[in-house]
Amino acid sequence: MIAALRERLSGLKSFQRGIHPPHRKKYSEHAPIELFTPTGDLLIPMSQHIGPPCKPTIKPREEIEYGQIIGDIDHPISAPIHATLKGKTAMTVITTLPGPGGKRCDAIPLKPSEEGAVPENFLASFLDRNWDSVEPTKYEPEEIITKIRAGGLVGMGGATFPTYFKLKRNPDRPVDTLLLNGAECEPYLTADHRLMVECPEGIIVGLELARHAAGAERAIIAIEENKPDAIEALKKAAVGHNVEIAVCATKYPMGGERQLIPAVLGRTVPSAPKGLPLDVGVVVVNVSTAHGIARAVVRDQPFTHRVVTVTGLGVKKPGNYLTPIGTKFSELIESAAGGVTSEAIKVLAGGPMMGPTVPNLNVPVIKGVGGITVMIDQETAHWHETPCIRCGRCIDNCPLYLSPTKIAHAIKHREYDLANEFDMQACCECGCCSYICPAQIPLAQYIRAGKNQWRIMQTKQKATT
Ligand code: SF4
Ligand code: SF4
Repeated sequence: MIAALRERLSGLKSFQRGIHPPHRKKYSEHAPIELFTPTGDLLIPMSQHIGPPCKPTIKPREEIEYGQIIGDIDHPISAPIHATLKGKTAMTVITTLPGPGGKRCDAIPLKPSEEGAVPENFLASFLDRNWDSVEPTKYEPEEIITKIRAGGLVGMGGATFPTYFKLKRNPDRPVDTLLLNGAECEPYLTADHRLMVECPEGIIVGLELARHAAGAERAIIAIEENKPDAIEALKKAAVGHNVEIAVCATKYPMGGERQLIPAVLGRTVPSAPKGLPLDVGVVVVNVSTAHGIARAVVRDQPFTHRVVTVTGLGVKKPGNYLTPIGTKFSELIESAAGGVTSEAIKVLAGGPMMGPTVPNLNVPVIKGVGGITVMIDQETAHWHETPCIRCGRCIDNCPLYLSPTKIAHAIKHREYDLANEFDMQACCECGCCSYICPAQIPLAQYIRAGKNQWRIMQTKQKATT
Protein backbone atom coordinates (compact mmCIF):
# COMPACT_ATOMS: atom_id res chain seq x y z
CA MET A 1 0.00 0.00 0.00
CA ILE A 2 2.77 2.43 1.02
CA ALA A 3 4.84 1.42 -1.99
CA ALA A 4 1.87 1.99 -4.32
CA LEU A 5 1.27 5.45 -2.81
CA ARG A 6 4.94 6.32 -3.11
CA GLU A 7 4.90 5.30 -6.78
CA ARG A 8 1.87 7.48 -7.51
CA LEU A 9 3.44 10.50 -5.82
CA SER A 10 6.92 10.00 -7.33
CA GLY A 11 5.87 10.21 -10.97
CA LEU A 12 7.76 7.00 -11.74
CA LYS A 13 6.40 4.88 -14.57
CA SER A 14 4.46 1.92 -13.24
CA PHE A 15 1.75 -0.64 -13.94
CA GLN A 16 -1.21 -1.88 -11.94
CA ARG A 17 -0.74 -4.72 -9.44
CA GLY A 18 2.53 -6.70 -9.07
CA ILE A 19 4.66 -7.11 -5.95
CA HIS A 20 7.72 -5.71 -4.18
CA PRO A 21 10.03 -8.59 -3.22
CA PRO A 22 13.43 -7.72 -1.66
CA HIS A 23 15.90 -6.78 -4.44
CA ARG A 24 18.97 -8.61 -3.05
CA LYS A 25 21.09 -7.23 -5.87
CA LYS A 26 23.78 -5.90 -3.55
CA TYR A 27 25.81 -9.14 -3.74
CA SER A 28 26.83 -8.53 -7.35
CA GLU A 29 25.62 -5.11 -8.54
CA HIS A 30 29.03 -3.47 -8.03
CA ALA A 31 31.07 -6.41 -9.36
CA PRO A 32 32.60 -5.49 -12.76
CA ILE A 33 32.13 -7.94 -15.63
CA GLU A 34 34.94 -10.55 -15.71
CA LEU A 35 35.74 -12.93 -18.56
CA PHE A 36 35.49 -16.61 -17.69
CA THR A 37 37.04 -19.19 -20.02
CA PRO A 38 36.37 -22.79 -19.00
CA THR A 39 38.91 -25.55 -19.50
CA GLY A 40 36.36 -28.36 -19.16
CA ASP A 41 34.25 -29.63 -22.06
CA LEU A 42 31.41 -27.44 -23.28
CA LEU A 43 27.98 -28.79 -24.11
CA ILE A 44 26.35 -26.56 -26.71
CA PRO A 45 22.62 -27.31 -27.04
CA MET A 46 20.95 -27.27 -30.43
CA SER A 47 17.77 -25.85 -28.95
CA GLN A 48 18.37 -22.34 -27.69
CA HIS A 49 15.57 -20.44 -29.34
CA ILE A 50 11.82 -20.62 -29.72
CA GLY A 51 11.25 -22.68 -32.88
CA PRO A 52 12.59 -26.05 -34.02
CA PRO A 53 16.10 -27.05 -32.86
CA CYS A 54 19.13 -26.60 -35.11
CA LYS A 55 20.84 -29.51 -36.85
CA PRO A 56 24.62 -29.96 -36.36
CA THR A 57 26.68 -28.77 -39.31
CA ILE A 58 29.96 -30.35 -38.09
CA LYS A 59 31.45 -33.86 -37.81
CA PRO A 60 32.85 -35.94 -34.92
CA ARG A 61 36.46 -35.14 -33.95
CA GLU A 62 36.50 -32.01 -36.09
CA GLU A 63 38.73 -29.03 -35.26
CA ILE A 64 36.43 -26.07 -34.76
CA GLU A 65 37.29 -22.39 -34.94
CA TYR A 66 35.88 -19.84 -32.53
CA GLY A 67 32.67 -18.37 -33.98
CA GLN A 68 32.17 -21.09 -36.63
CA ILE A 69 28.55 -22.11 -37.24
CA ILE A 70 28.03 -25.56 -35.70
CA GLY A 71 24.24 -25.81 -35.91
CA ASP A 72 21.55 -24.28 -38.10
CA ILE A 73 18.12 -24.95 -39.56
CA ASP A 74 16.21 -23.47 -42.45
CA HIS A 75 13.16 -22.23 -40.59
CA PRO A 76 11.69 -18.73 -40.27
CA ILE A 77 11.81 -18.78 -36.46
CA SER A 78 15.34 -19.98 -35.82
CA ALA A 79 18.85 -18.75 -35.05
CA PRO A 80 22.15 -20.45 -35.92
CA ILE A 81 24.44 -21.71 -33.17
CA HIS A 82 28.18 -20.91 -33.16
CA ALA A 83 31.23 -22.47 -31.56
CA THR A 84 31.74 -20.38 -28.46
CA LEU A 85 35.40 -21.38 -28.09
CA LYS A 86 38.02 -22.82 -30.43
CA GLY A 87 38.29 -26.58 -29.88
CA LYS A 88 37.50 -30.07 -31.08
CA THR A 89 34.23 -31.99 -31.16
CA ALA A 90 33.98 -35.35 -29.35
CA MET A 91 33.69 -38.85 -30.88
CA THR A 92 29.94 -38.46 -30.96
CA VAL A 93 28.64 -35.21 -32.28
CA ILE A 94 25.40 -35.29 -30.41
CA THR A 95 24.56 -36.12 -26.86
CA THR A 96 21.21 -35.72 -25.14
CA LEU A 97 21.09 -33.73 -21.98
CA PRO A 98 18.58 -31.98 -19.76
CA GLY A 99 18.59 -28.19 -20.18
CA PRO A 100 18.63 -25.79 -17.22
CA GLY A 101 14.83 -25.97 -17.11
CA GLY A 102 14.85 -29.78 -17.14
CA LYS A 103 13.73 -30.14 -20.78
CA ARG A 104 15.91 -32.65 -22.66
CA CYS A 105 17.60 -31.62 -25.89
CA ASP A 106 20.52 -32.52 -28.17
CA ALA A 107 23.89 -30.85 -27.64
CA ILE A 108 27.35 -30.80 -29.20
CA PRO A 109 30.23 -31.62 -26.82
CA LEU A 110 33.27 -29.43 -27.53
CA LYS A 111 36.72 -29.72 -25.94
CA PRO A 112 38.29 -26.24 -25.74
CA SER A 113 41.82 -25.75 -27.10
CA GLU A 114 44.45 -25.34 -24.44
CA GLU A 115 45.67 -22.17 -26.11
CA GLY A 116 43.80 -19.45 -27.95
CA ALA A 117 40.35 -20.86 -27.15
CA VAL A 118 38.96 -17.35 -27.13
CA PRO A 119 40.15 -14.45 -29.34
CA GLU A 120 42.79 -12.19 -27.80
CA ASN A 121 41.53 -9.20 -25.79
CA PHE A 122 38.02 -10.60 -25.94
CA LEU A 123 36.78 -8.82 -22.81
CA ALA A 124 38.18 -5.47 -23.95
CA SER A 125 36.56 -5.85 -27.36
CA PHE A 126 33.24 -6.96 -25.79
CA LEU A 127 33.15 -3.90 -23.54
CA ASP A 128 34.68 -1.52 -26.09
CA ARG A 129 33.08 1.91 -25.66
CA ASN A 130 34.31 3.39 -28.90
CA TRP A 131 31.19 3.45 -31.07
CA ASP A 132 31.16 7.15 -31.99
CA SER A 133 31.97 6.67 -35.67
CA VAL A 134 29.04 4.30 -36.32
CA GLU A 135 26.16 5.66 -38.43
CA PRO A 136 23.29 3.19 -37.93
CA THR A 137 21.28 4.58 -40.88
CA LYS A 138 24.06 3.76 -43.34
CA TYR A 139 22.92 0.12 -43.01
CA GLU A 140 19.87 -0.96 -45.00
CA PRO A 141 17.13 -2.48 -42.77
CA GLU A 142 17.42 -5.79 -44.64
CA GLU A 143 21.18 -5.83 -44.13
CA ILE A 144 20.70 -5.33 -40.38
CA ILE A 145 18.18 -8.18 -40.26
CA THR A 146 20.52 -10.50 -42.21
CA LYS A 147 23.46 -9.75 -39.93
CA ILE A 148 21.39 -10.23 -36.78
CA ARG A 149 20.27 -13.66 -37.98
CA ALA A 150 23.81 -14.59 -39.00
CA GLY A 151 24.97 -13.62 -35.50
CA GLY A 152 22.48 -16.07 -33.93
CA LEU A 153 20.85 -13.45 -31.73
CA VAL A 154 17.83 -14.31 -29.61
CA GLY A 155 16.10 -12.34 -26.85
CA MET A 156 18.48 -12.40 -23.90
CA GLY A 157 15.82 -11.48 -21.34
CA GLY A 158 14.86 -15.15 -21.24
CA ALA A 159 12.23 -15.41 -23.98
CA THR A 160 14.82 -16.53 -26.61
CA PHE A 161 12.69 -15.35 -29.53
CA PRO A 162 14.94 -14.91 -32.62
CA THR A 163 15.73 -11.20 -32.71
CA TYR A 164 15.84 -10.82 -36.48
CA PHE A 165 12.26 -12.11 -36.76
CA LYS A 166 11.06 -9.68 -34.13
CA LEU A 167 12.57 -6.68 -35.93
CA LYS A 168 11.59 -7.63 -39.48
CA ARG A 169 9.22 -5.03 -40.90
CA ASN A 170 5.66 -6.15 -41.54
CA PRO A 171 3.54 -3.67 -43.55
CA ASP A 172 0.37 -5.04 -41.95
CA ARG A 173 1.66 -4.38 -38.44
CA PRO A 174 3.74 -1.18 -38.43
CA VAL A 175 5.83 -0.33 -35.38
CA ASP A 176 5.99 3.20 -34.02
CA THR A 177 8.03 2.61 -30.84
CA LEU A 178 11.09 0.61 -29.98
CA LEU A 179 11.20 0.01 -26.23
CA LEU A 180 14.53 -1.01 -24.77
CA ASN A 181 14.07 -3.12 -21.67
CA GLY A 182 16.60 -2.36 -18.97
CA ALA A 183 14.26 -3.09 -16.07
CA GLU A 184 15.96 -6.30 -14.89
CA CYS A 185 13.24 -6.68 -12.26
CA GLU A 186 14.12 -10.23 -11.21
CA PRO A 187 15.66 -10.07 -7.69
CA TYR A 188 19.39 -10.92 -7.37
CA LEU A 189 20.26 -10.59 -11.09
CA THR A 190 22.59 -7.79 -12.22
CA ALA A 191 23.98 -8.85 -15.63
CA ASP A 192 21.97 -6.26 -17.62
CA HIS A 193 22.72 -3.64 -14.98
CA ARG A 194 26.47 -4.11 -15.28
CA LEU A 195 26.35 -4.02 -19.08
CA MET A 196 24.39 -0.74 -18.98
CA VAL A 197 27.07 0.73 -16.68
CA GLU A 198 30.09 -0.69 -18.50
CA CYS A 199 29.07 -0.42 -22.17
CA PRO A 200 26.17 2.03 -22.58
CA GLU A 201 27.49 3.31 -25.95
CA GLY A 202 27.23 -0.16 -27.53
CA ILE A 203 23.67 -0.46 -26.22
CA ILE A 204 22.69 2.89 -27.78
CA VAL A 205 24.14 1.83 -31.16
CA GLY A 206 22.21 -1.47 -30.93
CA LEU A 207 19.06 0.49 -30.09
CA GLU A 208 19.52 2.77 -33.13
CA LEU A 209 20.10 -0.21 -35.42
CA ALA A 210 17.03 -2.00 -34.05
CA ARG A 211 14.90 1.13 -34.43
CA HIS A 212 16.05 1.57 -38.02
CA ALA A 213 15.45 -2.10 -38.86
CA ALA A 214 11.95 -2.10 -37.35
CA GLY A 215 11.03 1.28 -38.86
CA ALA A 216 10.10 2.78 -35.48
CA GLU A 217 10.17 6.55 -34.99
CA ARG A 218 10.33 6.64 -31.23
CA ALA A 219 12.93 4.94 -29.03
CA ILE A 220 12.64 4.68 -25.26
CA ILE A 221 14.93 3.03 -22.71
CA ALA A 222 13.09 1.83 -19.59
CA ILE A 223 15.14 1.31 -16.41
CA GLU A 224 14.03 0.70 -12.84
CA GLU A 225 14.94 3.48 -10.41
CA ASN A 226 17.09 1.12 -8.31
CA LYS A 227 19.87 1.38 -10.93
CA PRO A 228 20.83 5.10 -10.73
CA ASP A 229 24.34 4.53 -12.14
CA ALA A 230 22.88 2.75 -15.20
CA ILE A 231 20.36 5.57 -15.71
CA GLU A 232 23.19 8.12 -15.62
CA ALA A 233 25.43 6.10 -17.94
CA LEU A 234 22.70 5.68 -20.55
CA LYS A 235 21.61 9.32 -20.32
CA LYS A 236 25.19 10.35 -21.04
CA ALA A 237 25.62 7.87 -23.88
CA ALA A 238 22.30 8.96 -25.43
CA VAL A 239 23.33 12.63 -25.79
CA GLY A 240 22.88 13.57 -29.46
CA HIS A 241 20.46 10.69 -30.07
CA ASN A 242 16.70 11.06 -30.23
CA VAL A 243 16.17 8.62 -27.33
CA GLU A 244 13.99 9.00 -24.23
CA ILE A 245 14.86 7.51 -20.85
CA ALA A 246 11.88 6.30 -18.80
CA VAL A 247 12.62 5.77 -15.11
CA CYS A 248 10.31 3.08 -13.77
CA ALA A 249 9.27 2.09 -10.28
CA THR A 250 11.16 -0.85 -8.78
CA LYS A 251 8.39 -3.37 -8.93
CA TYR A 252 8.10 -6.97 -10.02
CA PRO A 253 7.49 -7.97 -12.88
CA MET A 254 8.27 -4.56 -14.45
CA GLY A 255 10.47 -6.26 -17.07
CA GLY A 256 7.58 -8.28 -18.53
CA GLU A 257 6.49 -6.85 -21.89
CA ARG A 258 2.88 -6.79 -20.78
CA GLN A 259 3.80 -4.67 -17.76
CA LEU A 260 6.50 -2.45 -19.29
CA ILE A 261 4.37 -1.30 -22.24
CA PRO A 262 1.44 -0.06 -20.13
CA ALA A 263 3.85 1.44 -17.59
CA VAL A 264 5.82 3.46 -20.14
CA LEU A 265 3.34 4.00 -22.98
CA GLY A 266 -0.07 3.47 -21.36
CA ARG A 267 -0.99 0.86 -24.03
CA THR A 268 -2.48 -2.52 -23.17
CA VAL A 269 -1.18 -5.58 -25.01
CA PRO A 270 -3.91 -8.12 -25.81
CA SER A 271 -3.79 -11.37 -23.83
CA ALA A 272 -1.21 -14.09 -24.53
CA PRO A 273 -0.72 -16.41 -26.25
CA LYS A 274 -2.17 -14.65 -29.32
CA GLY A 275 -1.71 -10.98 -28.42
CA LEU A 276 1.72 -9.43 -29.02
CA PRO A 277 3.37 -6.03 -28.40
CA LEU A 278 3.23 -5.65 -32.22
CA ASP A 279 -0.55 -5.39 -31.90
CA VAL A 280 -0.03 -2.04 -30.18
CA GLY A 281 2.80 -0.88 -32.46
CA VAL A 282 5.67 -1.71 -30.11
CA VAL A 283 8.77 -3.91 -30.26
CA VAL A 284 10.55 -4.61 -26.97
CA VAL A 285 14.26 -5.47 -27.01
CA ASN A 286 16.36 -6.33 -23.97
CA VAL A 287 19.44 -4.14 -23.32
CA SER A 288 21.88 -7.07 -23.57
CA THR A 289 20.27 -8.05 -26.89
CA ALA A 290 20.76 -4.47 -28.12
CA HIS A 291 24.45 -4.74 -27.25
CA GLY A 292 24.57 -8.03 -29.18
CA ILE A 293 22.89 -6.33 -32.17
CA ALA A 294 25.61 -3.66 -32.28
CA ARG A 295 28.34 -6.33 -32.14
CA ALA A 296 26.67 -8.51 -34.79
CA VAL A 297 25.90 -5.72 -37.27
CA VAL A 298 28.88 -3.40 -36.93
CA ARG A 299 31.62 -5.87 -35.98
CA ASP A 300 30.25 -9.16 -37.42
CA GLN A 301 30.61 -10.79 -34.00
CA PRO A 302 28.37 -13.83 -33.36
CA PHE A 303 26.52 -14.54 -30.12
CA THR A 304 29.04 -16.76 -28.34
CA HIS A 305 29.18 -15.30 -24.84
CA ARG A 306 26.79 -13.63 -22.44
CA VAL A 307 27.08 -11.98 -19.04
CA VAL A 308 25.82 -14.35 -16.35
CA THR A 309 25.29 -13.22 -12.76
CA VAL A 310 26.32 -15.93 -10.30
CA THR A 311 24.91 -14.86 -6.98
CA GLY A 312 23.15 -15.69 -3.71
CA LEU A 313 24.38 -16.29 -0.18
CA GLY A 314 25.30 -19.85 -1.18
CA VAL A 315 28.16 -18.84 -3.47
CA LYS A 316 31.58 -17.62 -2.30
CA LYS A 317 32.33 -14.96 -4.91
CA PRO A 318 29.17 -13.51 -6.42
CA GLY A 319 29.83 -11.65 -9.65
CA ASN A 320 29.00 -11.02 -13.29
CA TYR A 321 30.89 -13.35 -15.60
CA LEU A 322 31.17 -13.08 -19.37
CA THR A 323 30.68 -16.76 -20.10
CA PRO A 324 30.78 -18.85 -23.30
CA ILE A 325 27.50 -20.53 -24.12
CA GLY A 326 27.81 -24.23 -23.29
CA THR A 327 29.82 -23.76 -20.07
CA LYS A 328 28.60 -26.15 -17.40
CA PHE A 329 27.00 -24.55 -14.35
CA SER A 330 29.33 -26.64 -12.14
CA GLU A 331 32.49 -25.18 -13.68
CA LEU A 332 31.22 -21.61 -13.71
CA ILE A 333 30.20 -21.80 -10.04
CA GLU A 334 33.36 -23.60 -8.95
CA SER A 335 36.07 -21.88 -11.01
CA ALA A 336 34.68 -18.38 -11.54
CA ALA A 337 32.56 -17.82 -8.45
CA GLY A 338 34.78 -19.65 -5.94
CA GLY A 339 32.41 -22.57 -5.34
CA VAL A 340 29.43 -22.94 -3.04
CA THR A 341 29.40 -22.36 0.71
CA SER A 342 28.66 -25.16 3.17
CA GLU A 343 25.15 -23.74 3.65
CA ALA A 344 24.12 -23.82 -0.04
CA ILE A 345 21.00 -25.89 -0.55
CA LYS A 346 19.51 -24.89 -3.88
CA VAL A 347 20.62 -23.70 -7.34
CA LEU A 348 18.33 -21.84 -9.71
CA ALA A 349 18.78 -21.12 -13.43
CA GLY A 350 17.85 -17.44 -13.16
CA GLY A 351 16.45 -15.56 -10.20
CA PRO A 352 14.11 -16.70 -7.43
CA MET A 353 10.85 -15.55 -9.04
CA MET A 354 11.05 -17.32 -12.40
CA GLY A 355 14.20 -19.43 -12.33
CA PRO A 356 13.64 -23.19 -12.30
CA THR A 357 15.54 -25.31 -9.74
CA VAL A 358 18.54 -27.06 -11.30
CA PRO A 359 18.80 -30.64 -10.03
CA ASN A 360 22.05 -31.42 -11.91
CA LEU A 361 24.88 -28.88 -12.19
CA ASN A 362 26.21 -30.43 -15.39
CA VAL A 363 23.66 -28.45 -17.39
CA PRO A 364 25.13 -25.78 -19.69
CA VAL A 365 24.63 -22.03 -19.78
CA ILE A 366 22.40 -21.28 -22.76
CA LYS A 367 21.54 -18.05 -24.58
CA GLY A 368 18.53 -17.32 -22.35
CA VAL A 369 20.24 -17.81 -18.97
CA GLY A 370 21.27 -14.49 -17.42
CA GLY A 371 21.90 -15.74 -13.92
CA ILE A 372 22.55 -18.58 -11.53
CA THR A 373 21.33 -18.12 -7.97
CA VAL A 374 22.72 -20.33 -5.21
CA MET A 375 20.54 -20.07 -2.13
CA ILE A 376 20.89 -20.98 1.51
CA ASP A 377 18.09 -22.13 3.77
CA GLN A 378 17.13 -18.63 5.05
CA GLU A 379 16.67 -17.33 1.50
CA THR A 380 14.48 -20.18 0.41
CA ALA A 381 10.70 -20.31 0.57
CA HIS A 382 9.42 -23.36 2.45
CA TRP A 383 6.10 -24.42 1.11
CA HIS A 384 3.70 -25.76 3.75
CA GLU A 385 0.57 -25.69 1.66
CA THR A 386 -2.64 -25.12 3.61
CA PRO A 387 -6.22 -24.69 2.37
CA CYS A 388 -7.15 -21.50 0.51
CA ILE A 389 -8.68 -18.92 2.84
CA ARG A 390 -10.25 -17.00 -0.05
CA CYS A 391 -8.48 -13.78 0.80
CA GLY A 392 -8.20 -12.79 -2.88
CA ARG A 393 -4.63 -11.54 -2.58
CA CYS A 394 -3.45 -13.66 -5.52
CA ILE A 395 -6.11 -12.02 -7.71
CA ASP A 396 -5.34 -8.52 -6.42
CA ASN A 397 -1.64 -8.89 -7.23
CA CYS A 398 -1.72 -10.80 -10.53
CA PRO A 399 -0.32 -8.34 -13.11
CA LEU A 400 -2.34 -10.03 -15.84
CA TYR A 401 -5.68 -9.77 -14.02
CA LEU A 402 -6.11 -13.54 -13.84
CA SER A 403 -7.66 -15.58 -11.07
CA PRO A 404 -4.74 -17.81 -10.03
CA THR A 405 -6.73 -19.59 -7.32
CA LYS A 406 -9.42 -20.70 -9.79
CA ILE A 407 -6.88 -21.81 -12.40
CA ALA A 408 -4.83 -23.79 -9.86
CA HIS A 409 -7.97 -25.38 -8.41
CA ALA A 410 -9.06 -26.56 -11.86
CA ILE A 411 -5.56 -27.96 -12.58
CA LYS A 412 -5.48 -29.82 -9.26
CA HIS A 413 -8.71 -31.55 -10.33
CA ARG A 414 -7.28 -32.19 -13.82
CA GLU A 415 -9.96 -30.03 -15.37
CA TYR A 416 -7.70 -28.52 -18.02
CA ASP A 417 -10.54 -27.26 -20.23
CA LEU A 418 -11.89 -25.35 -17.28
CA ALA A 419 -8.40 -23.99 -16.52
CA ASN A 420 -8.22 -22.76 -20.11
CA GLU A 421 -11.59 -21.09 -19.71
CA PHE A 422 -9.98 -19.19 -16.82
CA ASP A 423 -7.19 -18.14 -19.23
CA MET A 424 -4.44 -20.49 -18.04
CA GLN A 425 -2.50 -19.91 -21.29
CA ALA A 426 -2.28 -16.17 -20.63
CA CYS A 427 -0.29 -16.73 -17.42
CA CYS A 428 3.34 -15.57 -17.76
CA GLU A 429 4.42 -17.69 -14.76
CA CYS A 430 5.77 -14.59 -12.99
CA GLY A 431 5.16 -16.14 -9.54
CA CYS A 432 3.52 -13.06 -7.92
CA CYS A 433 0.55 -15.18 -6.82
CA SER A 434 2.69 -17.83 -5.10
CA TYR A 435 4.79 -15.14 -3.43
CA ILE A 436 1.79 -13.33 -1.98
CA CYS A 437 -0.39 -16.31 -0.94
CA PRO A 438 -0.74 -16.52 2.88
CA ALA A 439 -1.81 -20.17 2.59
CA GLN A 440 1.53 -20.89 0.85
CA ILE A 441 -0.10 -22.50 -2.14
CA PRO A 442 2.49 -22.74 -4.96
CA LEU A 443 -0.03 -21.37 -7.44
CA ALA A 444 2.43 -20.50 -10.22
CA GLN A 445 4.00 -23.97 -10.00
CA TYR A 446 0.55 -25.56 -10.36
CA ILE A 447 -0.16 -23.36 -13.36
CA ARG A 448 3.21 -24.14 -15.00
CA ALA A 449 2.57 -27.87 -14.50
CA GLY A 450 -0.96 -27.45 -15.90
CA LYS A 451 0.31 -25.71 -19.03
CA ASN A 452 2.93 -28.43 -19.57
CA GLN A 453 0.34 -31.15 -19.11
CA TRP A 454 -1.97 -29.43 -21.57
CA ARG A 455 0.83 -29.23 -24.16
CA ILE A 456 1.57 -32.95 -23.75
CA MET A 457 -2.12 -33.80 -24.15
CA GLN A 458 -2.35 -31.67 -27.30
CA THR A 459 0.75 -33.33 -28.81
CA LYS A 460 -0.62 -36.80 -28.08
CA GLN A 461 -3.98 -35.87 -29.52
CA LYS A 462 -2.35 -34.56 -32.73
CA ALA A 463 -0.30 -37.77 -33.04
CA THR A 464 -3.42 -39.95 -32.86
CA THR A 465 -5.50 -37.96 -35.36
S1 SF4 B 1 2.03 -16.61 -12.19
FE1 SF4 B 1 0.37 -16.31 -13.65
S2 SF4 B 1 -1.48 -16.31 -12.42
FE2 SF4 B 1 0.25 -16.03 -11.01
S3 SF4 B 1 0.43 -13.83 -10.78
FE3 SF4 B 1 1.80 -14.40 -12.46
S4 SF4 B 1 0.56 -14.19 -14.31
FE4 SF4 B 1 -0.86 -14.21 -12.58
S1 SF4 C 1 -3.90 -15.80 -2.09
FE1 SF4 C 1 -3.90 -17.96 -1.53
S2 SF4 C 1 -5.32 -18.07 0.16
FE2 SF4 C 1 -5.69 -16.11 -0.82
S3 SF4 C 1 -7.32 -16.53 -2.36
FE3 SF4 C 1 -5.39 -16.80 -3.39
S4 SF4 C 1 -4.98 -18.99 -3.22
FE4 SF4 C 1 -6.50 -18.50 -1.67
